[in-house]
Amino acid sequence: MTGKHIVVIGAGYAGLSAAARIGRGPDRVTLIAPEQRFTHRVRLHELAAGRQVARPEIARVLRGRKVTHRATRAVELDLAAREVLTEDGERVAYDTLVYALGSRTSWGGVPGAAEHAYPTERAEELRRRLAEGAPGMLAVVGGGATGIELATELAEAYPAWQVRLVAAGRVGGWLSERGRAHVLAVLDRLGARVDENRRVTAVTAHGLTCEDGEIPAEVVVWAASMEPQPLAAASGLAVNAQGRALVDDHLRSVSHPEVYVIGDAAAVEVPGIGELRMACATAMPQGHYLAKLLTGRTDKPFSYRYATQCLSLGRGEALVQLIHGDDSVRPRVLTGATGRLVKAGIVKGLPLSLR
Ligand SMILES: Cc1cc2nc3c(=O)[nH]c(=O)nc-3n(C[C@H](O)[C@H](O)[C@H](O)COP(=O)(O)OP(=O)(O)OC[C@H]3O[C@@H](n4cnc5c(N)ncnc54)[C@H](O)[C@@H]3O)c2cc1C
Repeated sequence: MTGKHIVVIGAGYAGLSAAARIGRGPDRVTLIAPEQRFTHRVRLHELAAGRQVARPEIARVLRGRKVTHRATRAVELDLAAREVLTEDGERVAYDTLVYALGSRTSWGGVPGAAEHAYPTERAEELRRRLAEGAPGMLAVVGGGATGIELATELAEAYPAWQVRLVAAGRVGGWLSERGRAHVLAVLDRLGARVDENRRVTAVTAHGLTCEDGEIPAEVVVWAASMEPQPLAAASGLAVNAQGRALVDDHLRSVSHPEVYVIGDAAAVEVPGIGELRMACATAMPQGHYLAKLLTGRTDKPFSYRYATQCLSLGRGEALVQLIHGDDSVRPRVLTGATGRLVKAGIVKGLPLSLR
């Protein structure tokens, strides 16, 4: 035993995989996260569509590992005293802190959005509203991956609702020509209307206000962007303009060397790529890497190459966009049964990689 106490905050893809694997080593590990079951965030749109989504118990993921799970929230970091203050009033001292609080829906300062729109975090409530309330117009805001996955999944699951996907720019604008064409074709086939180049300036109880007019909607889902949880910045960790913690090439905070930051919370710069995007695909390898680093199984800097971008388009379709290691798109895509099987295989396999 080294007697070191490693505290991991956050049990998402980055934090839980780091905790479970550090727990194989000699150090004592405490995991602080409020939930008892793992939130499989990349499947929240499926949950909103009423699909069965497996949520493994955190205790099960940690079984046989030297990790104590405290089901509470971190409300403050006392970086000088090296303590995490929790919602239940405890001060948890650490030698090493792993900060993995992830991100949340960003309302982008749009008036009324937080009051009237559903974020993906409220997927369960959204499911009830769509399944049990009188159907009408459903507007999904955001032409990125999350907006596309939500619009297709919800259009397929709730055919009585008229789905509209509203984007400030082009829907799937970063995809290859074939990739974007496939997304638009599937949306069309599912009866979802696409409104491109329409910036939303307000959300009301009656729908969306855009720069060029109103879009009526009984239900609005907000998937325009994500932002890091604010605790890093509020506690005095060095962060960038977006609030992501600045880390070195070993994922160590540049301001506090006893703190490591991983996942959506960290602004990880990789040579030849730049800052990694917020993604499960980038968060989980960081958790795995950090566990190796902290258990002495590597001293190399963190390295990363992108492999694919996978979008589910309802249960019947998917898109696997082939990309280069630096995240730039290749022309080739996989669709149909192949695309669907690849996407489903990756998503279903993720919980197994946590340990
Ligand atoms: C609908 C949807 C679909 C997506 N699809 C994909 C996809 O196909 N591919 C992909 O790569 N990415 C996808 N993403 C993005 C991906 O989910 C995130 O990038 C990923 O979850 C980041 O992982 P993380 O471990 O950094 O944080 P998270 O998964 O956000 O986990 C954060 C953890 O911190 C905990 N936490 C938060 N605040 C506190 C606190 N104060 N105290 C203690 N614990 C706290 C949370 O409870 C949670 O355990 C999708 C996101 C959404 C919403």
